[in-house]
Amino acid sequence: MSVDEKRLIDEKTAAFVVIGGGIAGVTCAETLSALSPEKKVILITASPLIKAVTNFQQLSKALETFDVVEKPSSSLQSECSNVEIIHASVTALDSGKHIVETDAGKTVKYDKLCICTGGKPKLICKDNPYVIGIRDTESVQAFQKKLSGSRRIVVVGNGGIATELVYEVQGCEVVWAIKDDSISTMYLDAGAAQFILPKLKEGKPQQSGLLKRLKYTVADSPSPGVQSTPGGALGPDWAEKVTLKGGSQGDQPRVHVEYKVEVKEVWTAEEFNARNPGQSESSSSGNHEEWPVCVELTNGVVYGCDLVVSATGVYPNTHPFVKDNQFRLGADGGLEVNSKMQTSVQDVFAAGDVCTAGWQPSPLWQQMRLWSQARQMGAYSAKCMLADLHQEDIHMDFCFELFAHVTKFFNYKVILLGKYNAHGLGKDYHVLLRMTEGKEYVKTVMHDGKMVGATLIGETDLEETFENLILNQMDLSSFGEDLLYPGVDIQDFFD
Ligand code: FAD
Repeated sequence: MSVDEKRLIDEKTAAFVVIGGGIAGVTCAETLSALSPEKKVILITASPLIKAVTNFQQLSKALETFDVVEKPSSSLQSECSNVEIIHASVTALDSGKHIVETDAGKTVKYDKLCICTGGKPKLICKDNPYVIGIRDTESVQAFQKKLSGSRRIVVVGNGGIATELVYEVQGCEVVWAIKDDSISTMYLDAGAAQFILPKLKEGKPQQSGLLKRLKYTVADSPSPGVQSTPGGALGPDWAEKVTLKGGSQGDQPRVHVEYKVEVKEVWTAEEFNARNPGQSESSSSGNHEEWPVCVELTNGVVYGCDLVVSATGVYPNTHPFVKDNQFRLGADGGLEVNSKMQTSVQDVFAAGDVCTAGWQPSPLWQQMRLWSQARQMGAYSAKCMLADLHQEDIHMDFCFELFAHVTKFFNYKVILLGKYNAHGLGKDYHVLLRMTEGKEYVKTVMHDGKMVGATLIGETDLEETFENLILNQMDLSSFGEDLLYPGVDIQDFFD
């Protein structure tokens, strides 16, 4: 049999092919199936389980909550009869012939393709058994196992993953190394960081209070599938759902934050001793030789520890696609997409963590690699693929008008709206602040008399009102400093 004949036998064809079984890919396939039940959709994914959104709730115009579950792909196939799932890793794309190749030796031909392959963790130190990155279910299970015997870990990174982790880990000393002068800078300004910091010292309450946010369920993963391709990213509340217990007695948190540092070097104890005879690392528990690994920070401090968690973000997982095709990439290395989620390669779309929004965004929206945006982009890209197939025009979805994110840090509900950190405004803004220690932190960003962003921490109940004020761009200058005064009922504005 010739190579071409063999290829024809192994070739599948579909109008729509989606790559990736994370939230973006699954939402894209589900939306295509719902909008175009007569067309075949193939979803190719390297992960053995797929991620699905359930209990979706639109809290306000822009804020949404949903649960995320991992489930076997058979359930998607039974819900969406025109969707076929192929478990394989895509190894190459021939965009000229409209074909993707998989490691299982199959080729799949498409009319329209959507790439939703997520991101890969940036590791501070590759191939070091004591350095672990957290991305998917498998990596959490590996982390849990290693943590159970740990007395001290060093967590490196200042994003959402690190912030959740340092709060959730119990029974273990945690050194949190961050490059900024305040915690969680991606989400919080220095004031908000100071506001939530005492909770880190208090530790977790026995029972979490009311939780209005996304929930994530980690299923037991079946026997590992494709090894080298990452599984779907974890997401909201992942750390609450798994036990993160170290090897020491007691649950009291012992977190020490090292500010304005990066990791200079990660040593094994032998390497450290050989290179630095006579110098001991910063160890509160005596002899440094008891630690299997040492982390040297740029401020000169060296910590001995059992484990290093590298939570320094992800980079877009574009490799199989960019090697043979001329994709335009964003500054962060993602596949650049226009306002119709099209990449620069014909008939190829992209959504979720793998893509970089290349359109002129609404002044109140910015891309952040979040679960909610993966869902929104997945759904919108399906609509765009369909519109493109039928050569119809399509308007940008409303969800890209206003950035809105609900999360929880240190057991506080956190809501971020619009330009919550005044990004892109230079010095042309001012901030109004209302704070009650331990209870609430309300910050609004004002520009030209209008509200353009807000950070709400605690049960403020202000999210819908502020969302309206930001979207409507009303002139609020007459309120002046009184805007956040508790006696001023801004909600009256909308009655
Ligand atoms: P992914 O979920 O990464 O899915 C990618 C899919 O592509 C996977 O199924 C993978 O197996 C598949 N794939 C990859 N390469 C190939 C290939 N070559 N061939 C076939 N299939 C392939 N977001 C929030 O909003 N709030 C949070 O609190 C939050 N916390 C997080 C905590 C952690 C630990 C992590 C890692 C992320 C967190 N995020 C959070 C981010 C959020 O999880 C991601 O933005 C979102 O899941 C991205 O979805 P995605 O579908 O684009 O990619």
